[in-house]
Amino acid sequence: MRARRDAAIRLLKTMLVASIVLPAGLFSYAAWTTNRDAFAHADEQLSATLDIMSEQANKVFQSVDLSFASVRAIVGTMSDDEIRASEQTLHLKLRELDTALNTIDALALVDKDGLALVSSSVFPAPRDLNIANRDYFQAQVERDAGTFIGAVVKPIVRPDLLFGVSRRRAPQNGEFSGVIAIFVMPKIFSEFYDKMARGTDASFSLVKSDGTILARYPAPPGNVTRFESNSGFMNTLNSWPEGGIVDIVSIDGLKRRVGYRKLGYTDLYVSDGIPTSAIRAEWLGAISAHLIFGIPATLFLFMLVLLTMRRTQEFYAEAERRDLAEQALRQAQKMEAVGQLTGGVAHDFNNLLTIIIGNLGIAKRGVVEARAERALDNALTGAQRAAQLTQRLLAFSRRQPLNPHAIDINKLLTGMSDLLTRSLGETVQLETIGGAGVWNIEVDTSEMESTLLNLALNARDAMPEGGKLTIETSNAYLDEEYCRHHDGLTPGQYVLIAVTDNGSGMPPETVEKAFEPFFTTKEAGKGTGLGLSQVYGFMKQSGGHIKIYSEIGEGTTIKLYFPRHDGDDAIVAPDDDSVSHRGNGETILVVEDDDGVRQYASEILRDLNYQILEARDATTAMRLVDADKPFDLLLTDVVLPGKNGRELATEIEKRRPGIKVIFMTGYSRNAIVHHGRLDRSTELITKPLIEGVLARKIRQVLDGPAPAKPRD
Ligand code: ADP
Ligand code: MG
Repeated sequence: MRARRDAAIRLLKTMLVASIVLPAGLFSYAAWTTNRDAFAHADEQLSATLDIMSEQANKVFQSVDLSFASVRAIVGTMSDDEIRASEQTLHLKLRELDTALNTIDALALVDKDGLALVSSSVFPAPRDLNIANRDYFQAQVERDAGTFIGAVVKPIVRPDLLFGVSRRRAPQNGEFSGVIAIFVMPKIFSEFYDKMARGTDASFSLVKSDGTILARYPAPPGNVTRFESNSGFMNTLNSWPEGGIVDIVSIDGLKRRVGYRKLGYTDLYVSDGIPTSAIRAEWLGAISAHLIFGIPATLFLFMLVLLTMRRTQEFYAEAERRDLAEQALRQAQKMEAVGQLTGGVAHDFNNLLTIIIGNLGIAKRGVVEARAERALDNALTGAQRAAQLTQRLLAFSRRQPLNPHAIDINKLLTGMSDLLTRSLGETVQLETIGGAGVWNIEVDTSEMESTLLNLALNARDAMPEGGKLTIETSNAYLDEEYCRHHDGLTPGQYVLIAVTDNGSGMPPETVEKAFEPFFTTKEAGKGTGLGLSQVYGFMKQSGGHIKIYSEIGEGTTIKLYFPRHDGDDAIVAPDDDSVSHRGNGETILVVEDDDGVRQYASEILRDLNYQILEARDATTAMRLVDADKPFDLLLTDVVLPGKNGRELATEIEKRRPGIKVIFMTGYSRNAIVHHGRLDRSTELITKPLIEGVLARKIRQVLDGPAPAKPRD
């Protein structure tokens, strides 16, 4: 079951992990693809915008080209002097051209020294205006630079920014003869870009390949006029001159994804950028849609699996508890069965012993010869030892009548210490630790003593090299959880007696079997295997509990738990032997089904000066009562054929109130013994019957007060 539980829990744990990992994985994948999509979408947008920008820029520069061609056509091969001469005509023509093309701000013809010859905007052209230091002029002086586009400048006379575009004039006498300059307002571009931006953080630029900015939206911060040659944008542009896409920090400090493209026209580029944050916002929007459903669903799944796991754990814990309880029950049932068997055998054996011992006793009295007497003595001793053995068996079978009293266990231990020390021998040291304020318990004193002696002897056997035996007493509480695992145990206050040795210890198999009668690991003749079984029977009968803790090589602790007794603490006074135990001619009715036992009992009682009436069962006894035969005491066996001894006594008590009764028993069933304990007012004598004991008991009852009221 443990393996099955572990497998189930492992599976659930895997599911628990999967319920988080799988959705997380799916989500990561979705996040990745949406991210990719967002950038792909941005790139498409960039490319579409670049189309529009190129279109516009191409148109502007086409009209610039067209203007150059027109100016050349107008001027033809005129010399500077000729031009000056017809300046007015030319001015008008140029102005016509200028006005026709709204992309162009102004046109001018400049001589080789940088002096204006004709201008579309002013007539006459200012003679002192020298543009020799302007980039669009200087670029053409040394060599034909084709169409050259200059940097943006602020003209002195006008508010609007301009950049100049120049081309060489037709050479005169094979030499540089000046340029045609066309002025374009960057505004044409930036206003167009402004419209495209529609208030977003997008950026648009028109740039020369050397990084010079011709137009930009938004306007570059401060007086920045070019991209630094080592900037990320310029590096990319130099590496992939035809066009591309790059993620950079723009000059205004914003992170952007920037697309750029080379124009068909000379070395110009258009570029546009979308803020990375905008792309990310689009991406986040997409994934948050996934998350809104994904997170609650994932959590729900997770909680569901977690709940299932908890339930499964509880289920297995419960099953395990039941399993343990069942095991305990099975063990108890097994012991019970063995007990019944042992009890039955012992009962019959007891009757036989009664006959043997009794008759040996009688025979002894009639024998004088010394040898025969010794033989009888030996036989008697043997039979008495056999009687002790049956006591042990009966204790185990829990049918031994107990005579429990309230006792102080610490006092009992003090009284026993001599006996224990002697039994343990010289090599074993005894330590008794009596807990302070230990509660009283209610047990049969002699059984308690024999239990402790049994445990001490076992400990001694486990410590052949010597060692230490500790007997410790304390108050204890057994809780519900513990009792659930131990069949028939009720939670509550107990007195604990722990007997600990540091001997050989026992393997688990031995622990399991130690209580079984006749189980012993000791060599033949050394162990009977009845010690612990007797202890076990006694513990059960006393409502207590016994537990073995043992470890090989370390030692053994045997714990005895007795229920707390909280009645009065009276300890019964020992019998006084000085009193005479003979009869005064009183009549005793002896009821016993075993002929041998009845005859034996009658014989001793007659010897003790009693009158005897005999009956072999309840019917015969009642006949004597009906015949009004007088008697002072009923001595009856408990187990009789037909009506039992208890019922017989009740019947007779009705007819003869106050009659005194003694029960005889090998073991006593519930008729007189409640749960194996004596009915407080019941007088009981156990078989085998011993002459002295019987005599004393009868005297005690006859001399005692009459029973206060009929039992029951
Ligand atoms: P016996 O002592 O006659 O063998 P018990 O019923 O008293 O029978 O004990 C049964 C068995 O339990 C012993 O044979 C021994 O193996 C084991 N045992 C009992 N007490 C101890 C102990 N204190 N240390 C080690 N083994 C023990
Ligand atoms: Mg023993």
